[in-house]
Amino acid sequence: MTKRIVILGGGTGGTLSANRLRRDMGEDAHITVVDRDDDHVYQPGLLFMPFGLAAPEDLVRSRSQQLHHGIHYRRSRVERVDADRRQVYLQDGTNLPYDVLVIATGARLMPEETEGLTGAGWRETVHTFYDFDGAMALESALAGFPGGHLVVNVVDMPIKCPVAPLEFCFLADWYFTERGIRDQVRLTYVTPLDAAFTKPVAARALAGLLAEKGVELVTEFNTGEVDGAGKRLVSYDGREVAFDLAVVVPLHGGASYVDHSPGLGDEFGFVPADPHTLQSKARPDIFVIGDAAALPTSKAGSVTHFEGEVLVRNVMRYLAGQELDAGFDGHTNCFIESGFGKAMLIDFNYDTEPLPGHFPAALGLPLLKESRLNHLGKLMFSWLYWHSLLPGRDIPGVPTPMPHAGKRFPAPVEH
Ligand SMILES: Cc1cc2nc3c(=O)[nH]c(=O)nc-3n(C[C@H](O)[C@H](O)[C@H](O)COP(=O)(O)OP(=O)(O)OC[C@H]3O[C@@H](n4cnc5c(N)ncnc54)[C@H](O)[C@@H]3O)c2cc1C
Repeated sequence: MTKRIVILGGGTGGTLSANRLRRDMGEDAHITVVDRDDDHVYQPGLLFMPFGLAAPEDLVRSRSQQLHHGIHYRRSRVERVDADRRQVYLQDGTNLPYDVLVIATGARLMPEETEGLTGAGWRETVHTFYDFDGAMALESALAGFPGGHLVVNVVDMPIKCPVAPLEFCFLADWYFTERGIRDQVRLTYVTPLDAAFTKPVAARALAGLLAEKGVELVTEFNTGEVDGAGKRLVSYDGREVAFDLAVVVPLHGGASYVDHSPGLGDEFGFVPADPHTLQSKARPDIFVIGDAAALPTSKAGSVTHFEGEVLVRNVMRYLAGQELDAGFDGHTNCFIESGFGKAMLIDFNYDTEPLPGHFPAALGLPLLKESRLNHLGKLMFSWLYWHSLLPGRDIPGVPTPMPHAGKRFPAPVEH
């Protein structure tokens, strides 16, 4: 009998899992993808837009056109999931019954959750590049910035692509150098973490790069208020950072329908799942992919791509009554654009932190080191995204499990 698979979200994870499922299951599955709009934004491009390095029209394509023939596309907002009845309720008044549900509704930006952030100065002296309109507005703001103190602030974790705010700092250093006013711009990175990044080896390398580029680092700053009128960030413990222009990465949460779907999500609206099989903790017939998942890995397109292979295998195994594959290892792979035509690369998983060496093997791209080759890799990711990731293809030479060859592991500590 044909199985009904409903996929919530037609972004990176929803699209690539729908296409993989269609290819592997053919007519055995009736696949429906639901999304509230038809604009698929290539989100990594939002980093480049404010610096005039990406044309807005090149970043957006029709969602439905990224889906293989035979996949059904429903344009409506998801209102609620009734996991007991195996039904999804849509804003257009209809409902979708399912045999398997795949949650791929990503992360939601919640700037309104931080006092003052969307108040005075929002989109004037206080910006974000984490959504399309924000990145557009920031392009004009940077172009007209006469000099002064530019502050990049992450309100709290988790965020999508945790290296993107650091990349913004590096590109800002390059951008103002190109404009000939770097000496008139003070750059500061303000983070809630106790270091430039979460993982110790990478944190040291990235802190070194910030220092090299003259970007000041303020750590353990938990932003409680953004005072746009007074042009200052205020932390919960009363510290202040003054700015002329603030670039803020707002709080992230899961899609709001998760809060209206009893038992589905955690207190932030993310959906807890088994970290290796991607089966939700809520129900065995619900699987989770991408930023929507409450997993101890980064919220990144690369992670979503690696998850896709395991998720699709497990949806099929679940439907066939077979044991699930616990094969997802948390593999994350991120290029870190560092300005002046260079980038770093980090590659890690649940158990191995980002280490120096080469990826995917001894003769590959340099890890944790700036290089032009990595910059080309970052640029090529856009092509791979539309032509390999979304259609659900494997990327040659980039395996789903994290490769160990090429990495320089620290010597074991002798006792
Ligand atoms: C500035 C920036 C830079 C980034 N750079 C990189 C990078 O260099 N490398 C990298 O790997 N990753 C990067 N990422 C992260 C990457 O884009 C995401 O991790 C990835 O897109 C996650 O895919 P997803 O399917 O989980 O979510 P999304 O692609 O965001 O898709 C979620 C979908 O769900 C839909 N949706 C949500 N709620 C509802 C609802 N109630 N009803 C109907 N539809 C709904 C949305 O419309 C959306 O289409 C970056 C992100 C940003 C913001």
